[in-house]
Amino acid sequence: MKKSLVFAANWKMNQAPADATAFMRTFVGQYTRQQDRRVLFFPSAVSLHVVVGAIKERGDLEAGVQNIHWEDKGAFTGETSGTLARSAGARHALIGHSERRHVFGETDEETGKKVVAAIRAGLTPTICVGETLAQREAAETLAVVRRQLRAAVSGVEAASVASAIVAYEPVWAIGTGKNATPADASAVHVALRAELREIAGERGGAVPILYGGSVNRSNVDALLAAAEVGGVLVGGASLDAEQWLAIVRT
Ligand code: PEP
Repeated sequence: MKKSLVFAANWKMNQAPADATAFMRTFVGQYTRQQDRRVLFFPSAVSLHVVVGAIKERGDLEAGVQNIHWEDKGAFTGETSGTLARSAGARHALIGHSERRHVFGETDEETGKKVVAAIRAGLTPTICVGETLAQREAAETLAVVRRQLRAAVSGVEAASVASAIVAYEPVWAIGTGKNATPADASAVHVALRAELREIAGERGGAVPILYGGSVNRSNVDALLAAAEVGGVLVGGASLDAEQWLAIVRT
């Protein structure tokens, strides 16, 4: 059976509203719906409205935010809550992206609280996990990703875990041009799949597990062919509409 795939674009702190408008005009104009795939966009919060407006007639295209706070509202200057994001049209939230963890010091405990908040707000969390180079070299990869996954879902019911997305993103591969080989990625995905089945039973078998880390049009096919790779989370290569079109049409 052909796999059903998820392609997620993380624009990080790029694409102002005018850039997002031009990008979405090109993308939506040229991309025709494909039954076996969903395309998710994670723009900066200031460009979310542009993406939401551009995809409103399209069930195969979805929008989300790159981060949320764990509270729904209040005195948290500079933060965006899940409920605010949902009311602005987001349906998804990245949680625990490696830049949140390693640049902003987000802890496992905080990712757990953010997953709870995302689900409470009606957002699908994309839970990001991944090891540093030092952890990989110390053969700690599987222990690290299992710990991160367990912590992220510790506050939610199995049914909510079953409706989440997981992304394996080795820290050393993000934005570096280095990517895990399909076999290395697959070994981690297989371990995450086993963990998801333990957490959520049979339903854990259906959670998409995406690979992220320097994915581009040249390496995407081989990564998607690997066992348990159910899609890709893409940063740099998702910023150019033509390149992103090539990736999602792969
Ligand atoms: C990311 O930001 O999630 C990512 C994988 O970035 P890049 O594709 O640029 O490595």
